[in-house]
Amino acid sequence: MSFAVAEAELSLLDAAREILRRTFGHAEFRGLQADVIAEVLAGRNALAVLPTGGGKSLCYQIPSLIRPGLGLVVSPLIALMTDQVAALVQSGVAAARLDSNIEPEEKIETWRRIDAGELDILYISPEGLMQPWMQDRLSRIPLSLIAIDEAHCVSQWGHDFRPEYRMLGRLADLFPGVPRLAVTATADARTREDIRAELRLENDAEFVASFARPELILSAERKRGADKRVVELVTARPGRSGVVYAGSRDKTEKLAELLRAAGVPALAYHAGLDRRLRETRLTEFLEADAAVMVATIAFGMGVDKPDVRFVIHADPPGSIEAYWQEIGRAGRDGEPAEGITLYGAADMGWALRRIAEREMDDAVKQVQVRKVRQLYTLLDGAGCRAATVRRYFGEEGVEVCGQCDLCTGSVETIDATLAAQKALSAAARLGGRYGRGRLVDHLLGKTKDVSEQETSLSTWGIGQELSTSQWRDLCEQLLFEGLLREDPNDGRPLVGVGDAEAVRAVFRGDQRVMMRKHPDGAEDGPRAPRKSKRARTAAAALSPADQPLFEALRAWRTSQAKAQHVPPYVIFSDRTLTEIATARPASRAALERVNGVGEAKLVHYGQAVLELVGGFEG
Ligand code: ADP
Ligand code: ZN
Repeated sequence: MSFAVAEAELSLLDAAREILRRTFGHAEFRGLQADVIAEVLAGRNALAVLPTGGGKSLCYQIPSLIRPGLGLVVSPLIALMTDQVAALVQSGVAAARLDSNIEPEEKIETWRRIDAGELDILYISPEGLMQPWMQDRLSRIPLSLIAIDEAHCVSQWGHDFRPEYRMLGRLADLFPGVPRLAVTATADARTREDIRAELRLENDAEFVASFARPELILSAERKRGADKRVVELVTARPGRSGVVYAGSRDKTEKLAELLRAAGVPALAYHAGLDRRLRETRLTEFLEADAAVMVATIAFGMGVDKPDVRFVIHADPPGSIEAYWQEIGRAGRDGEPAEGITLYGAADMGWALRRIAEREMDDAVKQVQVRKVRQLYTLLDGAGCRAATVRRYFGEEGVEVCGQCDLCTGSVETIDATLAAQKALSAAARLGGRYGRGRLVDHLLGKTKDVSEQETSLSTWGIGQELSTSQWRDLCEQLLFEGLLREDPNDGRPLVGVGDAEAVRAVFRGDQRVMMRKHPDGAEDGPRAPRKSKRARTAAAALSPADQPLFEALRAWRTSQAKAQHVPPYVIFSDRTLTEIATARPASRAALERVNGVGEAKLVHYGQAVLELVGGFEG
């Protein structure tokens, strides 16, 4: 690169920083933002993997504003586009979206603005973009860049494959010379390679940020009294916004009902609901200061409510990528938030069966099976959860988080090799004819209506040293480790011996079985949520003296949001309000220095905010 070129790129980056300050109200770029933006401003393609909340959108929004022409953003979900466009308009950016939900008159107006060169950023779905007439129209317009959001959707090695994303590979030929930026929050090395191949970014720069999310406090527990446990967990966190993920539509409805009965403002959300109802509930959730959304994974991608304080998986996610993405919806404002996962061996069995039944390449199946196993190794494992995830994504030199359930040492392990040997021989002798409950009863010698044939087996009653629930735990663990295997048998699973090689290693004593020590009888009574010194909300970080002003600002924001039909955080984030309540700016200049206050917001809301603050002085 010549000196002059370097010079020109530097001054472009200065322009980018200026927009970051003036339009978006942020003082500095975060993480890899500046590097990614510099690459795109230089007219080059790139792949950027930044964690959720890492500020991916600015990576394409700012270059769209600086480079001449219209910036196209391909995004898989309408909810995501709606939110981002609303936020951009609030910041004074000429942005719009074209999707199947837009009224004809608005479409016409949007096209008029595009043709007149008035629009800076256009959000569009992959299906929309791949229509020939659309390509034809867009090919006659100068484009500043094409951003492909949620780019992992292009890869079937990933966890969220969308066939319509495959077509995006053609963008390279359709719009030659237009820089393409693929962004995603989750992609392991294999998926990244696939994204680059599919989107024709083989020779372009790749930016991969750290996957650390220090604000997330992670924990996981085996399912016990499943629905009741979810209610306990949620009611132990009153007055906070949260998401509960459930594996089926019915279950979201049922859990939401149970939660409402317990006094929690809970809403169900799934793809089976009428679109209107879905939208109302989404708006209700976004606008509430504390609401709990009980949803299938149909909910979430692109839902950027920043003050979600917990994500609870009532049923486990599908992979580590999905885990990190779903949990990652908590704490996007950078304040402490919790991710709690409930899981069981039956969930793993179900996930594995679903993969087996799907029609796809064996190679892809193998990858998917490995992903499931890695997830359960994480959930049921004994090492720092955050560190395990980050290593999974290829980070090196990762330190433990110090705050997950495993780091804080609430999980102890004991050597259960001998007990495992007993369970495995019993399973072998019972010949795969019975379920887990019967296997445990056999070990304890308390099977009802037992046959003489069974009592004559050498394993009958040999397991007095453990209680029923300890044996159940151990069986669950042996299933996770593949030492036992369950045959689905139409919903009444039968348990038998698993991987022969591994089972032999256990019998020889070459493979130890370490078991988590669960307090016996832990199924009764809620465990109090651990008091972490970091577990405070944005509001709680305020001094009591600033609290009333913060509340007044929030109330003002709510009324603004209602009047404009946008989510409150699009006006100002909690973080910005906290800063205002603490700093108490007395002038426009002082207000502009607050993070999140850009020029447009100063013009629109400066007066009102300053008056509110003034009213609290003295
Ligand atoms: P994601 O990477 O998950 O798409 P977003 O682009 O939605 O993240 O950004 C997450 C939040 O971080 C937003 O509220 C955004 O305003 C804020 N943000 C982005 N970049 C910066 C920055 N440089 N400084 C401060 N806040 C930022
Ligand atoms: Zn940890």
